[in-house]
Amino acid sequence: MSSAIRLEGITRRFGSFTAVEDVSFEAPSGSITALLGPSGSGKSTVLRIIAGLEVPDAGRVWIEGEEQTHGPVEHRRVGFVFQHYALFRHMTVRRNIAFGLKVGKVPKAQRDQRVDELLALTQLEGLADRYPDRLSGGQRQRVALARALAPRPRLLLLDEPFGALDARVRQELRTWLAELHRELGVTSLLVTHDQEEALELAQRIVVMNEGRVEQVGSPADVYSRPATPFVAGFVGAANVLSGTVISGHVQYGDALVAGADGLADGSPAVAYVRPHDLVLSPVQRSGASVPAQVESVTPLGAVARVRLRLDAMKTLTAELPPSQLDGIAPGSRVYIDLSRASVFAPGDGVSDELSPA
Ligand code: ADP
Ligand code: MG
Repeated sequence: MSSAIRLEGITRRFGSFTAVEDVSFEAPSGSITALLGPSGSGKSTVLRIIAGLEVPDAGRVWIEGEEQTHGPVEHRRVGFVFQHYALFRHMTVRRNIAFGLKVGKVPKAQRDQRVDELLALTQLEGLADRYPDRLSGGQRQRVALARALAPRPRLLLLDEPFGALDARVRQELRTWLAELHRELGVTSLLVTHDQEEALELAQRIVVMNEGRVEQVGSPADVYSRPATPFVAGFVGAANVLSGTVISGHVQYGDALVAGADGLADGSPAVAYVRPHDLVLSPVQRSGASVPAQVESVTPLGAVARVRLRLDAMKTLTAELPPSQLDGIAPGSRVYIDLSRASVFAPGDGVSDELSPA
């Protein structure tokens, strides 16, 4: 797969503050790549640098093999959709979508044809003559997307495009965007702070924190094989268990709970484990499992959430399918296998609690 976008060592400072530091990644042609990170992690700045709206202090940007670090915006041929509707209020849907084509001096007949195509593609046919103030939030974002796509951009840059919408509409548009992308295959970069959105839509995820890249990988990589404590805590819910390294394993109480490759004996270590990666058993199968008492069992439909108390200080949360709940009830004694944990030296960026799902 060739790369539509390549960033190498991008740094951007605002005064003495470094907003983006040494960011490098590639976005494969035809895919959706997500830039995922908390607010303030530098995602929008990276996107603006790719669009040419911002110039980096260091590093280089390539678009389809051409260096564009200082290239003018109009040479880059990117379509941009922002979180906040930037539709022209005095123009109908049709004229909003036609805007970039008009600027590009596309003849009227061709323009009309392209706008009709986009109205169909974005399911807005019935709304062509409406003004933006007569549209719902979701419809406005579809118009914004149609307008960005009209001039056939090489890249589509989406900056939290659904961020201002309520949860149900956001989910609908997510599904719709995935279908649209399958149809068009335009290389897209999606900025989001929503890990579910990134996992659902993207083929590649760039996880950012405090201006730096923490990990670049497939959704399965960042979810199941987090490269840093930050990624383990930010992408998906995780239980956090602190212990000490003894003969290559994290020791908690009397149990050696998970492999700690690369960490020295005697050093502190932190194990992160997803609620669905805890394996519970009514009997102790090995010295690797930790005894616990079941505190509560909450059915949530496809899974049940089980609160487990290890000791006075520590509880863990497991999620199990109902078929695995035999012998697991409040008060019962169980053994927890934590061998699917990801283990790191203690780092910054995550709290000691289960991060929110
Ligand atoms: P994100 O999109 O991940 O929320 P941004 O890229 O918008 O993050 O911002 C990263 C950091 O850079 C933030 O701390 C923000 O306040 C700062 N920043 C962004 N743009 C500017 C600017 N033009 N001047 C000063 N600081 C800025
Ligand atoms: Mg932003």
